[in-house]
Amino acid sequence: MTEARHRPRRTVGDSLEDFERDLISNLYYQRGTTIESASGPDGYHTLAVTVRDRLVDRYARTAAAHYAANPRFVYYLSAEYLLGRQLRQNLLYTDTERWVRPIAEDLGVSLEALEVYDVEPGLGNGGLGRLAACLLDSLATLDIPAVGYGIRYEFGIFKQTFRDGRQVERPDDWTFYGNPWEFPAPDDRQLVGFYGATQPDPRDPGGLRRVWVPGETVRGEPRHMLVPGYGTQTVNIIRLWQARASRESFDLARFGVGQYVEAVDDIVRAENISKVLYPDDSTEPGRELRLKQQYFLVACSLRDIIRRYRLRNSGWEHFADKVVIQLNDTHPVMAVTELMRLLVDEHGVGWDEAWDITRRTFNYTCHTLLPEALETWPVRLLERLLPRHMEIIYAINHFFLEEVRAAYPGDTDMPRRMSIIQEGDERRVRMAHLAVIGSTAVNGVAELQTKLLAETTLHDFAVLWPERFHNVTNGVTPRRFLRMANPRLSELITGALGDEGWLTDLERLHGLGTHADDPDFRAAWRAVKRQNKGDLAAAVERATGVLIDPDALADVMIKRFHEYKRQQLKLLHVITMMNRIRADPQATYVPRTVLFGGKAAPGYLAMKQLIELVNAVAGVVNTDPVLARHLRVVFPPDYNVTKAQFVIPAADLSEQISLAGKEASGTGNMKLALNGALTIGTLDGANIEIRDRVGADNFFLFGMDAQAAADLRRSGYSPRAYYEADFELRLAVDTIASGAFAKGDRDAFAPVVDAMLHRDEYMALADYRAYVDCQDTVEQAWLDTERWTRMSILNTARCGFFSSDRTVREYCERIWKVDPVRVNP
Ligand SMILES: *Cc1c(COP(=O)(O)O)cnc(C)c1O
Repeated sequence: MTEARHRPRRTVGDSLEDFERDLISNLYYQRGTTIESASGPDGYHTLAVTVRDRLVDRYARTAAAHYAANPRFVYYLSAEYLLGRQLRQNLLYTDTERWVRPIAEDLGVSLEALEVYDVEPGLGNGGLGRLAACLLDSLATLDIPAVGYGIRYEFGIFKQTFRDGRQVERPDDWTFYGNPWEFPAPDDRQLVGFYGATQPDPRDPGGLRRVWVPGETVRGEPRHMLVPGYGTQTVNIIRLWQARASRESFDLARFGVGQYVEAVDDIVRAENISKVLYPDDSTEPGRELRLKQQYFLVACSLRDIIRRYRLRNSGWEHFADKVVIQLNDTHPVMAVTELMRLLVDEHGVGWDEAWDITRRTFNYTCHTLLPEALETWPVRLLERLLPRHMEIIYAINHFFLEEVRAAYPGDTDMPRRMSIIQEGDERRVRMAHLAVIGSTAVNGVAELQTKLLAETTLHDFAVLWPERFHNVTNGVTPRRFLRMANPRLSELITGALGDEGWLTDLERLHGLGTHADDPDFRAAWRAVKRQNKGDLAAAVERATGVLIDPDALADVMIKRFHEYKRQQLKLLHVITMMNRIRADPQATYVPRTVLFGGKAAPGYLAMKQLIELVNAVAGVVNTDPVLARHLRVVFPPDYNVTKAQFVIPAADLSEQISLAGKEASGTGNMKLALNGALTIGTLDGANIEIRDRVGADNFFLFGMDAQAAADLRRSGYSPRAYYEADFELRLAVDTIASGAFAKGDRDAFAPVVDAMLHRDEYMALADYRAYVDCQDTVEQAWLDTERWTRMSILNTARCGFFSSDRTVREYCERIWKVDPVRVNP
């Protein structure tokens, strides 16, 4: 820790003049150029660095305050972070946007023009990675000492483009122009081993302590990004590890004899570890490399956590009092075995004491209910890649199964079901079991999912250790998803509530409730939505060439493409609207724009076909003069956080139509309701809690609940029966089958039709009628403009609960048991 006298007392000034002077100086000294000859990227980088400098000072004071307080720290381990763009956020959090605008205007550039260079670090797939980012934002805002750990993927989530309507994936080379938001910390690099063998430790012959001699070592180099809190001085960090070959990897001898490719073999192999984010969050492709990534993250982060612990503490007895580690799903769960290895093998702590420390240190968040998304790894792969960890897993399992046998004497099935090892032709390690066994608290991310976890997926554990199971319903940061995404609405809200206190106390939105009955306020509310829709229309036209009517009902379904989320059900509704208009072109219809956004995992062929079909349907609808008068379908490519921030403020209707019992929580549903979109949804995930809060009258509910869905599946579900029984459904499916969306080619979408009629894994056909009828009630409500506006206001007013500040408070009180540390200005 640097002593205070080594730090500049005030690195940056607090006035517009200081800011302007720093900008010009940074342009000159950091970019080596002048105002006259600066390019766009020069302007962006200079602005970024100038804003960043204002956070560095806060970060230094945060680090000093933490050092002095020696508090309990939250360490958040996540394979994914979906941070979104940084520039606007940091302008807001340093309150410098008000200076940048006039300065930029003076110089003849706009903030918007510079922002195109602000690349979104796409280090995550979807909701899980975005949750990690929202929690870090709230941790800093609540002054909780915390560090996020992740991987600095060289290529983040792929960029989605469409060619002939088909998804084409392009690499996301997000650091190509450099990332002004990160700081390298090469001194904190760590060495990580893989492969090799284990041997007895002479210091503990025949005991549990052993020596691992790895066959390969890789360096992990951290870089950190600053994570400022809003309205406070705290700036925490996220540390992202990048894999580097260890120093002697370059083979000079081979290079010398012209073997240029072979000479860098080891370097390439090592650096591949942080090369790409796996673009699939439900299955495990590239198995060995993915497992290497997981261990790489865990090994680097734990060593760093121990390094930090030792700055102020010694011995191990206080470790679990100073360190709490949250595992964001099972991806980082090897941390449990790694901490055991470090304690037992490297630091000579006895097994029982090490296990006590480990268990008190870890907590685990489970993000799924889908059995296929519960990670397992082949024992044989683990034995080869991480031989010592596999031994430790066996030992943990051995002691655990003793406990199970003691609890259930004579029951032979229970140990088999609960074991970390899944027996079979290929024995596998169940990561979720290891996570539950190695943690103090296990939490689901919405009430229904937590209940179903305890009843089904993790039932045996919930019976054995009921005290370990908690619910912490997800939330979203109101700074990014309301204040930054929707400045117009934020201004209206601040005007109505009197000040900006709602930004850090979102329950204060309740105060909008009384305004819902004020016709002037309703008109102002509508005007904001209309302006946002105007902006969206312009952006959609730029992205897709399709004109949309800003006065039409904006119906949005934005999320990853997955069969359980049921984009296919939305599409059947679109085709039904189409067929109705064709059958009676003279009737009046509620004008509607249906906007899809989302990526499909590159290997998920069924969803890639569905994307192609959505684009084909859009092509037909938008170019048919009769249909296009009432209906437009648009699908701007490459849905990401930046696009979410653009679409959400303009949405009227939020589609949350997953099969009940499948969506763990959802957070898109929260972002949309908070921005005044009304939800059409099933009783799934956090939809249930949204509906409870906004009121059943202000939510469009349809479809089976989780119990009904489970019952239907058990009784033998036949999609074909629904198809036969419902004329409009049959017509919609037949329209696809007829080749109407493939210039008459009946084969083009045959697999989609086949999946619907013969498998329909997520029972879209069973919910079709209820869904389409519910869409009719949506249209009735839409026609009563005043009523709709009132419902919209009440949605915003009553969604304060879904702030990630509340989520973090619950984690702090119930699971982490941490207190804030205030940082003085
Ligand atoms: C919020 C968010 C998600 C999660 O959306 P769900 O509807 O909850 O699946 C996914 N991707 C991005 C870019 C998001 O911002």
